[in-house]
Parts: sequence; structure tokens; C-alpha cells
Amino acid sequence: MDIHEYQAKELLAKQGIRLPRGGLAYSPEQAAYRASEIGGEFWVVKAQIHSGARGKAGGIILCKSEKEVEDAAEKLLGARLVTHQTGERGKMVGRLYIEETVQIDREIYLGFVLDRKEERIMIVASGQGGMEIEEISEKEPDSIVRQVVDPGVGMLDFQARELAFGLGLDGALIGKAVQAIMGCYRVFRDYDASMLEINPLVVSHDEIYALDCKMSFDENALFRRPEISELRDKSQEDPRETFASDRGLSYVGLEGNIGCIINGAGLAMATLDMIKIAGGEPANFLDIGGGASPERVAKSFRAVLQDKKVEVVLVNIFAGINRCDWVAEGVAKALDEVGVPVPLVVRLSGTKVEEGRRILAEKAPSVIVADTLKDAAEKAVAAWKSGKSASEAA
Ligand code: GDP
Ligand code: MN
Repeated sequence: MDIHEYQAKELLAKQGIRLPRGGLAYSPEQAAYRASEIGGEFWVVKAQIHSGARGKAGGIILCKSEKEVEDAAEKLLGARLVTHQTGERGKMVGRLYIEETVQIDREIYLGFVLDRKEERIMIVASGQGGMEIEEISEKEPDSIVRQVVDPGVGMLDFQARELAFGLGLDGALIGKAVQAIMGCYRVFRDYDASMLEINPLVVSHDEIYALDCKMSFDENALFRRPEISELRDKSQEDPRETFASDRGLSYVGLEGNIGCIINGAGLAMATLDMIKIAGGEPANFLDIGGGASPERVAKSFRAVLQDKKVEVVLVNIFAGINRCDWVAEGVAKALDEVGVPVPLVVRLSGTKVEEGRRILAEKAPSVIVADTLKDAAEKAVAAWKSGKSASEAA
């Protein structure tokens, strides 16, 4: 789960990290008022969306008067900002963060991530801030310094000092950088973050400020971090994924037209591959999990059909813990209660498969039955193609 920059900065502030003074605004009037509250002569108006690279997309506007702040707010609020991280639909700007400007003497990149291979928190820093980390690792790979945290002892001051030296800082800045880095580490650890990125962390008049902050959290740990769950902003999420996750389904939205309802993440991945090989494009990844009841199957249909781009639904079940008869009941229930306005391909295999097939034949005769994974993918793609040519002919 992602949070906004201003929310991440509130967490950093509690750990004593220096930040430009700022305030939140939901309207142009409020934005101008915030600027007057902050005082000074220059402000940055920052679009709060769940994405980085806002600057290049026009989401960060430098202003020289309260009037300019108001105009910038007018322009940004309600607009959809398309960055290279949002996809073409972009993200709606509903909130702005107004900040005092800070003179930038040096820009530093500082990132905390979970290194899955090392199974440890890794800190990545570079003296070439301002650029994105992908760009830094391409153009200035030698500028990158790293530290890996031993989970048994946690991050130690000397590791932060090594980073500070590696960044070429000296004098009083070393101690200040160590404080900032250790503060970030505590925020990362204490809230079960999965990513914390400060880009840029800047040196300004012998002080160190976090000018930007991006943070994501491990969704599996949110149950024990209610203060983080509260920061969720559903308006920034894919509505298809929000609908599914609110119902306890594991769903990832994709760009194609073949909706998928599958049990098991591995089988789901294999099915997506097979659809592609057969010449189609999956609309989603959906794992119904083990022991899925007919109700859960019907719910999955609701989630998949939320996506108006779906032109075919493919159900692929290899039942071990699951039961094909329950899945078949679920399919019948979905046809009855949800309504499935597109061709439906079902492949059942494993536990209670005979009963499952019988139920389908009896209660869901419109279903296209498939035998194997390959057969299912090909039938789904064929159904999609014939639907397309029918609509083109019409
Ligand atoms: P991002 O594009 O989403 O990463 O947003 P940032 O908050 O990092 O802002 C983009 C860029 O705007 C930064 O890299 C800075 O170069 C610039 N910027 C942001 N705040 C300030 C500021 O207070 N003073 C100055 N001079 N530049 C700023
Ligand atoms: Mn940034």
C-alpha cells in the first residue's frame, strides 16, 4: 500500500528529520492561505498522488506569489496527472501540499528497500540525487553506496556513517546525515514499510532536509499497523483492485480482455502465459485460493466483471484442496445472480471433477467446457476473437 508524500513526511518528522515547512490544501483558496501561513517569498505546490516523477509531469510547480500558488492549485486540483509510473490513465489530483522552498546545495538519493534475495533491509544511496535510481544506476553506477542490515542487531550508527562518507559528506554534515538516515531506518522498521525513498535528500546551508518522500507498506502487516491503514487513499488505487481486495480476493488488474478466475498463484501465472501463447491478453490475475465456496466463486465473477474491458471469462481450477463441485455451483450461482454477459470457458480438474462437470451440464449449459489448460486458453482466445469479429461485422 502506498501513501502520499505529506503523510510520509509526517512519519519522518516524528523521528526528528528536517523537512521544509508545509501545509495541505484541498482548494485554491486554501493553497493561498497555506502559503501566507508558511510565509516567505517562494513556494512549491506539489500534487499529492501515488506516484513519483511528478516533477517531469508538471505536478510540482514553483511559485513566486500567493496568486501564483492559487493559480497553480487551480490548474492541478481535479486534473489527472500522467507520469511514467502511473500508466496512461494517470492519477487524479485531489490534494496539494504547499511547501516553502529550500535552497539546494547538493542533492542526494536515499532509498530503503527489502532485498528479497538477501532477506534483509538494504539501504541504497547516491550523491547523484535528483535523478531516479534507475537512471543513476545506468549513468553513475559508481556513485551508488549500499548497506545491508543484519536483522539480529538492526541498523548500526557506523553503517549510516559509512553511507555518509560514501556520499562525500564531511564535517558537521556527517552527524546530521547519520541522524537523518537512522531516523528513516526507524520509520521503515517500525511501520513494516516495504519501500522508503527520499529523492532528493538535500544539503542546504549546512543542514540536511528531506525534500521528497515516497513510502509503501507491506499489506500483509497492515492488520497490526492501524495508524498506517488509516492513511490509505482509495482514490489513488485501481478501482478493480480495491473492489477485489475489499472482498479478500487476491487480484491484480492487467490490460487485456480475458478475465481470469483461477485457484493458486502458480496456476494463475501459467494460465496467463498460456493465454498469451494462444494469442490473447489477460485482463487480470485472480487467485481464488484454496477451499473456495460457491459464494467466493460468485464474488470473484463480480470482481472480474467490474472491468468493462472483459470480453471473455476463463475459469481454470485444478482442485486439490478445492472442490470442483463447489466451483461449479459457484459458476451456476454467478450466472444466476451476477449475470455473465460474455462467453464463459470453464476447465475443471481434480477433486470431485465428475460432479463438477455434471453440475455445469445441468445448471450452466451455456458454459464452454475445456479439458486441459492449453485447451482452455485456446477456447478462451477463440471465443474472444469470434466475439470481436461478430461486433466488427455488426
Ligand atoms: P517527484 O518529481 O515526484 O520526485 O517530486 P519531488 O518532490 O522530488 O520534486 C521534483 C523536483 O522539484 C526536485 O527534484 C527538485 O529539483 C524540485 N524541488 C522540489 N522542492 C524544491 C524546493 O524546495 N526548492 C527547489 N529549488 N527545488 C525543489
Ligand atoms: Mn522526488
